Amino acid sequence: MILAIESSCDDSSISITKIETLELVFHKKISQELEHSIYGGVVPELAARLHIEALPKILEECKKYLKDLKAVAVTNAPGLSVTLTEGVAMAKAISIALNLPLIAVNHLKGHVHSLFIEKESLFPITVLLVSGGHTQIVEAKSLNDMQILARTLDDSFGESFDKVSKMLNLGYPGGPIIEKYAEHGDKNRFIFPIPLSQSPKIEFSYSGLKNAVRLKIDELERTTLNEQDIYDVCACFQKTAVEHILQKLRKLFKQNTIKDFAIVGGASANLFLRKELEDLCKKYGTTLHLSELKYCSDNAAMIGRVAIEQYKNGEFTTLEDLDIKTRLKDY
Ligand code: ATP
Ligand code: FE
Repeated sequence: MILAIESSCDDSSISITKIETLELVFHKKISQELEHSIYGGVVPELAARLHIEALPKILEECKKYLKDLKAVAVTNAPGLSVTLTEGVAMAKAISIALNLPLIAVNHLKGHVHSLFIEKESLFPITVLLVSGGHTQIVEAKSLNDMQILARTLDDSFGESFDKVSKMLNLGYPGGPIIEKYAEHGDKNRFIFPIPLSQSPKIEFSYSGLKNAVRLKIDELERTTLNEQDIYDVCACFQKTAVEHILQKLRKLFKQNTIKDFAIVGGASANLFLRKELEDLCKKYGTTLHLSELKYCSDNAAMIGRVAIEQYKNGEFTTLEDLDIKTRLKDY
């Protein structure tokens, strides 16, 4: 079995997965959403302090499996430096105490592997990663051959939901809140410009949309911003944010034959986005793969799933070499 630790942002999570059968024998996550909610976003120092409380608590719960471990894996990039460090320190301590090899896992490969939890991997696959820090289209040919086909020039898809939610004082994380509010709204009341709609390039941008929403909220606040206005802003913003993705994906699907397509990352839990992508994939005869909703946001099960592949390939690291990286240029 492999024990995997995830602490790249505001979720403390540990998993234990069987190497041969891929069975997830233990998985727990403690989220810090409530604690960060009052600040409208993740406060790194607070997140680090909460990981120090949560990670040992979870580790205690899986004590009985420790004797069966063959390796210990940890997310070491990308993420917040002060929170990545907590997971890495714990992984090193376990590695020393139990004399186990260490596996360093790229968090973004983790999101891709959220598709394959307790399942065989499927490659090649084209993946849209929509998370708090990333908006990318990735051509994943294998574990170690993942090319970024497109990325965002500024904010990420999930981040734009967080920022709009903050503007409306609705709380953090914004994604699920905006999605709920949008259900009661009229998605055709306000017209927000679709980002980069005139550009032939396949790339993303969310800062212009965010500013357009801010201006609309300012305008509504000058009269009276009521509950229905908030629902409508959320619905129109969500529709435009998703339409931007759809426009770019239509270009991609027209230019390439894509047999298997997937969406991963925290924001891939958005049901409106899922429905629109289902329709798009149907139109192009593409099979759409989705992670289970519980594995969309950060978790250690996806990190453990990558670790199994790395274990089989003999991709280990050492106490000296295992370091954190807050950003990664590619996979
Ligand atoms: P990264 O993986 O890029 O390092 P992260 O790990 O912080 O970033 P995730 O945990 O994968 O990000 O996803 C969190 C993001 O997903 C947040 O921005 C959140 O608002 C967004 N999100 C979650 N649920 C939804 C939803 N239903 N609709 C839209 N966005 C959502
Ligand atoms: Fe993530």
